[in-house]
Amino acid sequence: MMKEKLAAIFSEQFPKSSDLEFLLSRDKPRELQEIFEFADQARKQFMGEGILLRGLVEFSNHCRNSCFYCGLNKNNQELERYRLGKEEILSCVEKLNSCGIKTVVLQSGEEDGLDPLWLKSVIEAIKAEFEIAITLSVGERTKEEYKIWKDAGANRYLLKIETSNKELYGSLHSGMSFENRLRCLRDLRALGYQVGCGNMIGLKGQTVKTLAEDILFFKENNFDMIGIGPFIPHPQTRLASQKKGEVELTLKVLALTRIVTKNAHLPATTALGSLEEDFRIKGLKAGANVLMPNFTPLKYKKLYEIYPGKRCISEPVGACAFCMEELAHSVGRYIDYSRGDSLKL
Ligand code: SAH
Repeated sequence: MMKEKLAAIFSEQFPKSSDLEFLLSRDKPRELQEIFEFADQARKQFMGEGILLRGLVEFSNHCRNSCFYCGLNKNNQELERYRLGKEEILSCVEKLNSCGIKTVVLQSGEEDGLDPLWLKSVIEAIKAEFEIAITLSVGERTKEEYKIWKDAGANRYLLKIETSNKELYGSLHSGMSFENRLRCLRDLRALGYQVGCGNMIGLKGQTVKTLAEDILFFKENNFDMIGIGPFIPHPQTRLASQKKGEVELTLKVLALTRIVTKNAHLPATTALGSLEEDFRIKGLKAGANVLMPNFTPLKYKKLYEIYPGKRCISEPVGACAFCMEELAHSVGRYIDYSRGDSLKL
């Protein structure tokens, strides 16, 4: 039964939601192992043994939104806000570049104050000095802004849908709209960005059905990258008292996403590494092929607190890069220092 279902979702162009729901509901260790092994095989077939690196620079924690799960939400008065200047960002890029990393991810809260022309000048300065791909992750913006940044040299954009279920999405994002999220993803695609999406696992109201729909949403949209991580409650949010997402469920969604999307880049997310132990190792064995070491300067890193207990909060900048080699070796793989563009192009 398991084998047939796995083979079906792997080979069908339109996998059945019921098959995904069946697989998401498996909970015996032997069954989980079978799912993870199938995903690991698919990862091997489509992505090979190399693990790609993306150097993360969290350049601002200012945010105009009030997402119920996120510690950066504007109602969190206890959080000290920061914004890196252009020179500070460039020095982070210099560090990750000297570690051999060829992608920088510039991420921030969704800032009202973000001047699109300032970000354009940052992109141009990075491109002038380094041979490196730029991924932006600054939330919902206008198509005009996305175009300015694309024209300046940005290559990729991350904007997670968080959940593809419209009602659930609405219940987590006051003052935002699901339609606008989809509009952004469409605009980014039309402008020629490599587009990353993703979701959180363990949200209240989420079911195996909504998770199966998330996976089908990833497949239909042919995303180049998909980030899947457990929800981790943050004390200064509306969801403070909710349970965190389960590792096993997160790994199942990751594995099934690998099997269904085949050659999308899938990170073993920092959130997955921020639970009781470093579950990124399990992620790498269940379909993931990307790691995202953090290059935010130490004094700001702890202020980019989207959820508590974030990994390596006290490590000096760049220390992560060395850790990456160890992580890769621990799963019998190696770090691939190439740019790692989309395989869907
Ligand atoms: N402002 C940007 C970046 C957001 S932070 C944007 O809107 O795209 C990046 C990701 O962190 C989010 O997409 C979300 O999936 C994740 N995140 C936020 N709060 C979280 C929490 N409490 N637990 C787990 N992941 C969380």
